[in-house]
Amino acid sequence: MTEENKVSVVTGGGSGIGYSICKALTTLKHTVIVLDMDIEAAKRTADEINLAGGTAKAIQLNVSKHQETMQVFAQIKDEFKHIDVLVNNAGIGSVGTLEETSEDELDRVYAVNVKGLYNCSFAAVPYMKAQGAGVIVNMASVASTVGIADRFAYSMSKGAVLTMTYSIAKDYINYGIRCNSVAPGRVHTPFVDAYLEKNYPDNKPEMFETLSKTQPIGRMGKPDEIGAMVKYLCSEEASFITGSNFPIDGGFVTLNN
Ligand code: NAD
Repeated sequence: MTEENKVSVVTGGGSGIGYSICKALTTLKHTVIVLDMDIEAAKRTADEINLAGGTAKAIQLNVSKHQETMQVFAQIKDEFKHIDVLVNNAGIGSVGTLEETSEDELDRVYAVNVKGLYNCSFAAVPYMKAQGAGVIVNMASVASTVGIADRFAYSMSKGAVLTMTYSIAKDYINYGIRCNSVAPGRVHTPFVDAYLEKNYPDNKPEMFETLSKTQPIGRMGKPDEIGAMVKYLCSEEASFITGSNFPIDGGFVTLNN
């Protein structure tokens, strides 16, 4: 399979980091399938790519629904004949300590960030196995490897993203499937804006500044910076890379001391 003929599936491609990943993959000339539970957002991403001369299709999917996910991936396989790349990017945030995290909240975060990754990988891996090739990139976080205050459920889920990455990489290495994760620090997306709006409606600019400075580099990441790394990991240039996690965090994990 040449790079130009590949089909990439990106979850949560309607917004933020996922939107940037979709755009970056079109520069590899991949056909990009934009999956998002927000179909209007997915369509905006796909329309923009198509208008710019790329090829993209928007499909509505709630990644936490197992049967729905199986059907959507079967539909993609039918229509596009192969699934070469899966980027498990869709994810939701959650603020709170263990005691502040209700059972419902734990389940809500697990359903999207953990089970969603399982569902999409479960649906895609058999096709990749049959092809003898495939790439999966998972969206981890700095919270996968270091303790972040007030992020109990989110950290639980992102720790699982990291270890599911290692597990998939190990089990499918002999089937030509590479699996890696990227671990961003804070990236300025609607995810962050929604967090500020909800938790700090009266002092958003100050909190934005505070959040920016938690990265030793002094600012938040840009979605396109994450898109560029994911694009590289999905490309043939990264053919020797599997079972690895890539921090992209302005020094957050190693320089905050
Ligand atoms: P975002 O909120 O801007 O975009 C997330 C997209 O995922 C949205 O379009 C949303 O509709 C979609 N989505 C949510 N739940 C879904 C579901 N159940 N099924 C299908 N689609 C769903 O978020 P973002 O900041 O771009 O984050 C993307 C990923 O990056 C997440 O996994 C997040 O945990 C991770 N991440 C973000 C940051 C950050 O600072 N923004 C840092 C580290 C990791």
